Amino acid sequence: MFIENDLHFVYHLGSDSSTLTMLKRILSLSLFTLLASSPALAQEQVVNIYSARHYPSDEALYSQFTRTTGIRINRVDADDAGILARLRAEGSASPADVILLVDAARLWRGEADGLFQPVKSTILDAAIPAQLRGAAGSDGGSAWYGFSTRARVIVYDKIKVKREDVDTYEELGDAKNKGRLCIRSGSHPYNLSLFGAVLEHLGDQKTEAWLKGMVDNMARAPKGGDTDQIRAVASGECAVAVTNTYYLARLMRSSKPEDQAVVERVGVVFPNQSSWGTHVNIAGGAVAKHAKNPANAVKFLEYLASPQAQEHFANGNNEWPTAKGVKLDNPALQAMGGNSFKSETIPISVVGRNSVKVQQMLDRAGFR
Ligand code: FE
Repeated sequence: MFIENDLHFVYHLGSDSSTLTMLKRILSLSLFTLLASSPALAQEQVVNIYSARHYPSDEALYSQFTRTTGIRINRVDADDAGILARLRAEGSASPADVILLVDAARLWRGEADGLFQPVKSTILDAAIPAQLRGAAGSDGGSAWYGFSTRARVIVYDKIKVKREDVDTYEELGDAKNKGRLCIRSGSHPYNLSLFGAVLEHLGDQKTEAWLKGMVDNMARAPKGGDTDQIRAVASGECAVAVTNTYYLARLMRSSKPEDQAVVERVGVVFPNQSSWGTHVNIAGGAVAKHAKNPANAVKFLEYLASPQAQEHFANGNNEWPTAKGVKLDNPALQAMGGNSFKSETIPISVVGRNSVKVQQMLDRAGFR
């Protein structure tokens, strides 16, 4: 990818001192300057995106942006933690303009570590509700914006499990579900954020006991992503699993007979409807602190709040759109009950802060 090459190019220039290399350096630099100042390149608009979104359907989202704005996208894909680590390592040399993350706690972390610059945009402020934004900078604006949400729900084997045995997160750690549970790694951001929210509701002792209870209830050691857990319920390897809503929705909308068979077999429950509500996570974007194309970065974020992009989150990746006035038109999400469920309302900053403590609890509980 172009950014990678450019980056290595720049690093190489600064890392050797032999005369020959010096010469090469001068030559390359003048070539670089020449290229950078040539009219064709000067006119080309780019935006460099570091993205933790890992959804093939997003390709349409990116190409539509380039078609409508003429701004070319260079994208580096990595997971949330990898992106934040890379931004820290690159510092002011970072070519990143836009950061896309799929977890609210990591958005908060990036904000807390000063990796983003507050964005002032009347378009974004009008579209995205205040509770789905990062903190304001000293002169206004927000550190990040949430563009879609997803709920973390429980799926269960309709043949083996009674719905009322799994309609709260707490019951995942109850002995009545022994040998039933399949769940991805406890350290994955989706789980760290869920557990961080639970910690806020239950307190230290109960949360650690709950995590230990889940380890005792596991049908197998954590492996794979959320879709793998749903499939393992359908295949009978386990009977209860935890997943983000869009993974289930994807299976619901699949025309493959094997996916339809999975959907037939599993029930879905939005947990804790009679207590603190179902945990909801946010995917969002920010402008990098050292963005070289900040105006294009803001344009990209504004694009993500537009009706076309929001529609894409709803229909392309089965997420809930966040922009005001965008209506949900997704049969799978509607079948799950639209967005009428009660969602949990712990501040993101609290969930973010709790993640360190949760990780220590996971280590003690042997929850890999
Ligand atoms: Fe995901």
